Amino acid sequence: LVPASVSAAPAVKPPLYKDASKPVFQRVDDLMRRMSLTDKIAQMMQAERNATTPASAAKLRLGSILSGGGSSPTPNTAESWADTYDAYQRAAVDTPLGIPTIYGVDAVHGNNNVYGSTVFPHNVGLGAAHDPALVQKIGRATAEEVSATGVDWDFAPCLCVVRDERWGRSYESFGEKPENAVSNATVINGLQGGSLNGPASVLATAKHFIGDGGTTGGVDQGNTQISEKELRAVHLPPFSEAIKRGVGSFMVSFNSWNGVKDHGNKYLITDLLKGELGFTGLVVSDWNGVDQIDGQPGFTPAEVTQSVNAGIDMFMVPSDYQKFMDYMKSEYQAGRIPMSRIDDANRRILTKKFELGLFERPMTDRSYLQTVGSREHRALARQAVRESQVLLKNDGALPLKKNGNRIFVAGKNANDMGNQAGGWTISWQGQSGPAIPGSTILDGIKASAGKSTKVAYDREADGIDQSYQAAVVVIGETPYAEGQGDRPNGLNLDPEDLATLAKVKATGVPTVAVLVSGRPLDVSKQLPWLNAFVASWLPGTAGEGVADVLFGDYKPTGKLAVSWPASATQEPVNAGDGKKPLFPYGFGLTYRK
Ligand code: BGC
Repeated sequence: LVPASVSAAPAVKPPLYKDASKPVFQRVDDLMRRMSLTDKIAQMMQAERNATTPASAAKLRLGSILSGGGSSPTPNTAESWADTYDAYQRAAVDTPLGIPTIYGVDAVHGNNNVYGSTVFPHNVGLGAAHDPALVQKIGRATAEEVSATGVDWDFAPCLCVVRDERWGRSYESFGEKPENAVSNATVINGLQGGSLNGPASVLATAKHFIGDGGTTGGVDQGNTQISEKELRAVHLPPFSEAIKRGVGSFMVSFNSWNGVKDHGNKYLITDLLKGELGFTGLVVSDWNGVDQIDGQPGFTPAEVTQSVNAGIDMFMVPSDYQKFMDYMKSEYQAGRIPMSRIDDANRRILTKKFELGLFERPMTDRSYLQTVGSREHRALARQAVRESQVLLKNDGALPLKKNGNRIFVAGKNANDMGNQAGGWTISWQGQSGPAIPGSTILDGIKASAGKSTKVAYDREADGIDQSYQAAVVVIGETPYAEGQGDRPNGLNLDPEDLATLAKVKATGVPTVAVLVSGRPLDVSKQLPWLNAFVASWLPGTAGEGVADVLFGDYKPTGKLAVSWPASATQEPVNAGDGKKPLFPYGFGLTYRK
């Protein structure tokens, strides 16, 4: 008898790029030798999930898929995210070269797109916590909850340095000084883990490069009119730090710098970022960012060429990827885009795919499903909320007495999960109401109060009378994100909040105002009569953390990472600019005993 192994046809040797024992650069070289021009151009495209299907993305060999803000599968569960991810990935690895896709989302305060996830405070709150180790842990928790859905790539952290809080993305910033984002760049190590190939590692994105927080008037996607010296001093340090921490990707910013859109700025992307700073990872465009270079709607071949040659490697062209690919091909054939640039982009993209282990482990590791909204993660979120509260005024009304007390809770943000989570929660702009499971601030107050304490609640403070020993009025903003959040007319409280406050004031009950907002608002007229005032920022799903501070179970430690304006129209106001804010950068009180 002849052993089967002898009579069988000789096994076909798998291509080198599939051999995980080979160094990544060799695998990339080997794979790129097998790719056609069309393969390479397609590898540079990122399509929106809703604008393609697994089959068509695979047929076109698209390099990447994203779910833009709020583009969740139905039903919006972690399992169905994983199914969606796996469908795209299966189709991708089934192609002749079997290049896996890389799937990106905006998990900017936890895996905020997924129903049931742990939603952490937005960066504005984390900046006030001044606890980089905590922020790193949040990054890790987020990476686990993202990994549960298969997703490989997180468009976070936003390392913008906010200089004018009229900007609608202020809450995505850690603070007004470069060191706020520099110190909290630890989140990158949390997201990426020890190595990209390790368990639950997610590719992090330093965004938005560069100058998004410095636009004139705080206009989103506006113009940052500053000298190169100031750009380097204020806006660059967090990005340099991100590179030191090994961040795998960068996202280009929508803003212009001195009138030139970043998306077409070769000096910034190629000379500064890839050259001077030595960034070796991949650079992704922002959502249709290429389209904005010439200020006219619809991108042109010239814009495509300018952005490719500027050094962008992957293009977030949610639905027009076919047109983009056609333009790229004809521009290459006309000699306006060099092969070296296409190769550089492919090398950067494929390197990350290999480093992430996508060729070896393309499918979702569903063991992480149990981490979504887990007890541990919720406890971490509560800790983050505690640490992010900033006590700005207190005449002794805080901490609230736990026992034998009568507390009246009011205000539109007291019992509204969507409002306390803010934008980028389930949907792009966020929404009021019970958007996600968690505890509202009212839930937290009820849970922390002693049995002998009565807690009454009415949103508009109806029914409040002098028999109450304290009133907690939770006011502030309702959710918004980019595009809708700018406030050119100033940072005023809204009429509903003014009415609720007036009703409470009339009773003479000692009043604690808690501000749930993505930025400071003008409280200069209320502050004199308020007994205590707490900036709560956008705490997310752990409302108990706010109650912990109100009752003194946690003594406040938060300190402002932004200057608090003295009027609705004082912005821009920043430390060292000679203006007199209501509360300076770094301010924050605590309890004596
Ligand atoms: C935002 C980015 C985000 C991208 C993808 C853009 O509009 O500016 O921050 O990562 O959308 O959702």
